[in-house]
Amino acid sequence: AAFAALGLAPELVAAVTDLGYTQPTPVQLRTIPLALSGKADQGAFNDLMVSSQTGSGKTAAFLLPMLHTLVQQQHEVAAAEIAAWDAKVAEALANGEPAPKKPRRKSPLDSRHFKPAVPGALVLCPTRELAQQVASDAIDLVKHCRGLRVANVVGGMPYQLQIAKLQNANLVVATPGRLLDLQRSGQIKLDQIRFLVMDEADRMLDLGFADDLAEIHQLTAQRQQTMMFSATFAPRIQQLAMRVMHDNGARVQ
Ligand code: AMP
Repeated sequence: AAFAALGLAPELVAAVTDLGYTQPTPVQLRTIPLALSGKADQGAFNDLMVSSQTGSGKTAAFLLPMLHTLVQQQHEVAAAEIAAWDAKVAEALANGEPAPKKPRRKSPLDSRHFKPAVPGALVLCPTRELAQQVASDAIDLVKHCRGLRVANVVGGMPYQLQIAKLQNANLVVATPGRLLDLQRSGQIKLDQIRFLVMDEADRMLDLGFADDLAEIHQLTAQRQQTMMFSATFAPRIQQLAMRVMHDNGARVQ
């Protein structure tokens, strides 16, 4: 089977082709159709718990379905914005007024224009290095998606640069502690998160992130889909799944 047969948006199929991926890996073949099989129009997506090793292609297995849904939403928003703008222009012309001027984009580097980021998707990773890797994979995958922005939240970045990177981010990749710092300082709002991925959930528990995960779970209570990736389904991972997933999540092994 090819990527196009999985029902992914053409922008994403083009990106995996550019990356030289010819066939989905087994974890991608099993995860992507399941992740997309929820009835999005009814607000229901499948929660998934996936047992996967590094090197299996697990990153694209969660990024692709997540990005697919963001792309679809982006298309809807863009179509609505274009229609609204066309209506505004038509109205002005009908009233004999000059066509309105497009508003200029404000620079996020100017702190007067600072607004908290309101992403729709979130990937949590145990370490800064993994978060960087996942964000870099996501950036490769969105290269043909207009207006989809990926932000990697890491410690030690200059404040202005971080604000600039977070502005308009649709997908945020972060470690749990760092994400909560940003949430508490008002730089990011989590109440529009629709998709949450916990990557290497077992390592996040090993590193003592259980309380942070519980807090993020509560802050993103309105989400539609949760995917948990872990090397094992050990009891402590199952406990976490029971807490954060609907129906404990479908299993993919
Ligand atoms: P991961 O398990 O996500 O760390 O991915 C391991 C490596 O496999 C990464 O370098 C990916 O770029 C690569 N990869 C992911 N999916 C595919 C695929 N379908 N075909 C070939 N390579 C892939």
